[in-house]
Amino acid sequence: MRMLIIGTGDAFSTERYGCSAVLETASGHVLIDCPDSIHRALRDARASSGWNVDAHTIHDIIVTHLHGDHCNGLESIGFTRWLAHRQDGKPLPRLHCWTPVADRLWERLAPAMDQGGNATLRDYFDVHTLDPAREATIAGVHVSCRPTGHSVPTIALRFRAESGTLAWSSDTPFDPQLIAWLEQDANRIIHETSPPPTHTPIEPLNALPANVRSRMRLMHMPDAFDPACTDIACLKQGDILTF
Ligand SMILES: [Zn+2]
Repeated sequence: MRMLIIGTGDAFSTERYGCSAVLETASGHVLIDCPDSIHRALRDARASSGWNVDAHTIHDIIVTHLHGDHCNGLESIGFTRWLAHRQDGKPLPRLHCWTPVADRLWERLAPAMDQGGNATLRDYFDVHTLDPAREATIAGVHVSCRPTGHSVPTIALRFRAESGTLAWSSDTPFDPQLIAWLEQDANRIIHETSPPPTHTPIEPLNALPANVRSRMRLMHMPDAFDPACTDIACLKQGDILTF
């Protein structure tokens, strides 16, 4: 299984897209979070990687939480796929989120997307609920989620396939219990770093055991982040991870 990194920035980055990636599975592309400028972000990733990925190749979208740098692209991708569905009968993308996000997502999108009260979230997305109590299967991959202590309801993710396991912290304060959940049997741990208290500063990550740090890759770095302050590698847009 492979993952293409779409964005690595924090919410204020002037240099990079918001944190996002595409998971390539045997049965399709899974987009993890959907930041601003998603079409351009996918185009840039396609150009650097050679992957055939754009708004029409995404079969599944997972949204970890409702901060704009993780979900602002849903309006644009939603309209793109709604038009393709109406005009060409193409399937709508499946949208996976946990209940606290599913319950409020339409509050955020409706003023731009309800078409005078005639449309609902399900006109744009085939909505599926993720349950922290049980593993889901998305595009043939086993996906589990766990709430983080971020400032709004947020889930971290683990993707388990026969070939390996990849963990994704999403946005979170430093949380040793979350890191223990993420790192169990994981080939790769993608972890955020940004200033506390709602995010994880680099210092406690630098203090993790070497066998955790060596499997960890960083995302959600501020533009001023100095990669030399850590021996944990920073992800770059266009990177491809194989696991
Ligand atoms: Zn956030």
